[in-house]
Amino acid sequence: MYPFEYLRAESPRAAIAAAQNGGRFIAGGTTLVDLMREEVERPGALVDISDLPLRRIRPTPSGGLLIGALVTMSEAAADRRVRNEIPVVSEALELSASAQLRNMATIGGNIMQRTRCTYFRDVSAACNKRDPGSGCAALEGYNRTHAILGGSSSCVATHPSDLAVALVALDAIVHLQGSRGRRVVTLEDFLLRPGRHPEREHDLGEDELITGIEIPAQPKPLRSGYLKVRDRQSYEFALTSAAVALSVRGGVIESAKVAAGGVGTVPWRLRGVEKALVGRRPSDELWRTAAAHAAEGAEPLSDNEFKVDLLQRTVERQLRVVGGRR
Ligand code: SF4
Repeated sequence: MYPFEYLRAESPRAAIAAAQNGGRFIAGGTTLVDLMREEVERPGALVDISDLPLRRIRPTPSGGLLIGALVTMSEAAADRRVRNEIPVVSEALELSASAQLRNMATIGGNIMQRTRCTYFRDVSAACNKRDPGSGCAALEGYNRTHAILGGSSSCVATHPSDLAVALVALDAIVHLQGSRGRRVVTLEDFLLRPGRHPEREHDLGEDELITGIEIPAQPKPLRSGYLKVRDRQSYEFALTSAAVALSVRGGVIESAKVAAGGVGTVPWRLRGVEKALVGRRPSDELWRTAAAHAAEGAEPLSDNEFKVDLLQRTVERQLRVVGGRR
């Protein structure tokens, strides 16, 4: 490993100041240390933010939950309010990584984790995300696990986070603190599609720090859940996944929030599916016809045509499971 500076920040303000000249924040370190060992990332300084007071989960005045950026994945998954009120979040967390990683990795780091594209992690391969302008080995190479939605001629890597899929479905909001003050942005807007600049993955300024993720108040009653389809049952990233949250009153679906993972360059909100559900009565026929909208706009690559059908079936199954919950 090459030499780098290590600093331990005592306040958000000190962390932001310390990171301004190319430094990177580190907390759990479960992605960044791997990438540094492989020399995919070479920050000049690591700013350790583990001591910052961002470890609480607390209710917001408007009835939502604010999860501090340094809450671990295990802590968030075990939180009684998360489990009882928005199980789609705890299920997505528990289907992510190993228990050891979930004990270390933080919520802020989870949404910032970088793609699992194998060419990105192979410094001998062409990769516009790692080395802008060098090309994309995946476009002509082996692209079975890559994106069918939101890709560009520069990059077709999927976003790897399960949690982010559940959070996008629930309209989560990212809280940021910068040298010029605080701001909020929806997670859906925070994570950027690759376009011609796949090296830009998020709307985070060089002088900004994620302080928390807010999950706004949800319609009630809410049934929700997360389904992940992968090549093996554990320690594997999604081929497809579906986060579903439904509010049914008087036998009619009043609210439907659906997002997919494993298929998009960012967590992919399925608004066509949602539109097909709202105002209708739950039935097997409705789940099937609504899920048929899941892959609208898909552009499969040479090795992942199968994801179109798999995505539709993943969404249909999870609609049936969540629609049947009480
Ligand atoms: Fe790099 Fe994106 Fe191409 Fe993968 S898909 S090689 S991350 S540019």
